[in-house]
Amino acid sequence: MQILLANPRGFCAGVNMAIDALEKAVAHFGPNIYVYHEIVHNRYVVDRFTAQGVTFVDSVEDVPEESILLFSAHGVSPEIREASRRRKLHTIDATCPLVTKVHMEAIRYAKRGYHILLIGHEGHDEVIGTMGEAPESITLVETPEEVDALAFSEGAKIAVLTQTTLSVDEAGRVLKRLRERFPQLETPSKDDICYATTNRQEAVGILAQKSDLVLVLGSQNSSNSQRLRELGEECGKPAYLIDGASELQPDWFHGVETVLITAGASAPEVVVQEVIDKLVDEYGASLSEETIRTEQVHFPLPKELRGLEVVQR
Ligand code: SF4
Repeated sequence: MQILLANPRGFCAGVNMAIDALEKAVAHFGPNIYVYHEIVHNRYVVDRFTAQGVTFVDSVEDVPEESILLFSAHGVSPEIREASRRRKLHTIDATCPLVTKVHMEAIRYAKRGYHILLIGHEGHDEVIGTMGEAPESITLVETPEEVDALAFSEGAKIAVLTQTTLSVDEAGRVLKRLRERFPQLETPSKDDICYATTNRQEAVGILAQKSDLVLVLGSQNSSNSQRLRELGEECGKPAYLIDGASELQPDWFHGVETVLITAGASAPEVVVQEVIDKLVDEYGASLSEETIRTEQVHFPLPKELRGLEVVQR
């Protein structure tokens, strides 16, 4: 069996920054820190911080007054910021700058009187945060069929934004339908689907063609990981999204000569290596890494953490 290891894969700049931020916050303030939602959507990462004493919450009301609260990479709505102020929380904002960019676009369009159509998945943390910037001015659309059901007066000012972790192809289909229905549609100068999502999907699209099976490392609630698995299936290959080596099923490997391994933007490299080790041990697999694109994106730590010293405990 041959393993094709996709590159780029795994952690993106936003996830790296959010994890570094939480590590630095723990090193400086100690583990008595709260995080609003999962720091990134990955079970391994969340379990690791939970074991250190960090508490993940889904409601600001669950955080004791005057505590430290870190906002995750997915961003939060103004309502959550306001609720945090009311509780006198010391907040650290680890929102990915590429998510913040979409928030800013939403604010800008809403101020200029546009109605915004946000292409995204209902209930995702990022979508909730973005919609919260201008709730009266944003409508979520997920499919071309939902576009058909929209009703706006002729010449209405309409703009479109997208969640950062969508399928490039799927979002493209929705956007095409939007343009057909609303030729006046305004779009930001640059696509909102982020570089990391785009690059990981491009690598799977190319490498799945040479593979019999696609394995994506990532958690079930990770949007960009789910999109990679779906893309593997769209390429006509069986594709599975797993958190780690313990979820591998022997049945998947019957007759498989080449297996593509990739990882979503929130999945750490350690779980990729575990899977590789298992396939090498149990199937004598050989490894070949295929680089489709190189990435050199880096985001600085949140301003609240810059310059803080790490306290030895
Ligand atoms: S997937 Fe993209 S938008 Fe999300 S954290 Fe990573 S770089 Fe930022």
